Amino acid sequence: MRVAHTIADYAKLRELAEGRIAFVPTMGALHDGHRSLIRLARSRGDLVVVSIFVNPLQFGPDEDYAVYPRPLDVDLERCAAEGVDIVFVPTVTELYPAGRQVTVSAGALGRAWEGASRPAHFDGVLTVVLKLLNIVGPDVAVFGQKDIQQLVCIQRMVVDLNLPVEILAAPIVRDADGLALSSRNVYLSPAERSLALSLSTALEKAATQTSVPAARAAAYETLERAEDDPAFALDYAALVHPTTFAMLPDDYTGPAVFALAARVGRTRLIDNASMTFR
Ligand code: AMP
Repeated sequence: MRVAHTIADYAKLRELAEGRIAFVPTMGALHDGHRSLIRLARSRGDLVVVSIFVNPLQFGPDEDYAVYPRPLDVDLERCAAEGVDIVFVPTVTELYPAGRQVTVSAGALGRAWEGASRPAHFDGVLTVVLKLLNIVGPDVAVFGQKDIQQLVCIQRMVVDLNLPVEILAAPIVRDADGLALSSRNVYLSPAERSLALSLSTALEKAATQTSVPAARAAAYETLERAEDDPAFALDYAALVHPTTFAMLPDDYTGPAVFALAARVGRTRLIDNASMTFR
């Protein structure tokens, strides 16, 4: 496994390599969710490239950019254990040198739901993803369904900007109790962690329903109970169309996404589930 810290070093390593490149962009603090993305990449590429970069552009001023976990040595060991070929670990100044001005706009999709709570978040995500795709030059890039609105924004960017890359979606990886794996779970106390299970429980209950109103009611019942605890504050619970993220009418049939965000203690968590109403 080779580690490139600069764009020039990466370009040299890539020149030596042959075959299809499968790329997994991450912010590090790698867990089994990231591992499943790397394995999917391995199955689809000759050369697997992982990037580790905590992107300042996608964090709001009051968010956790400064304290976001950065266990680089452990991350590199994990990448090596998964047979990753190249890890790209740029510095902030390498990706954002002084004088840069141009960014990507995620449009209306980037301002809904998660984007309403985190203004400029998806613009920051798309800007770094476009830069990384241009630098790494992959044939396929893998993203997790855990960040479903991010995935849809990226798919939209690939279509709207005619990017020559195939986007693969990897299923959400959960702990045995249902909690979606996240690098932010390390912030949770044991009590907060059990409160956080309300998210996956609400989604599980919604997914067994056969109509939009029943799914909403099932999820809200669990979420309202969680809100009895002052440590739990629901941000949004959105039953939406899987590509537009528009709210669904009560008589909707077809594929849907139930997306949730909540603050548990000081930690903001998101989760979602895909479902179909017939
Ligand atoms: P992050 O390092 O949090 O930016 O995540 C990097 C990639 O891993 C993104 O495409 C995420 O959607 C994906 N990811 C994070 N957590 C999970 C999970 N529990 N299951 C599946 N994919 C995940």
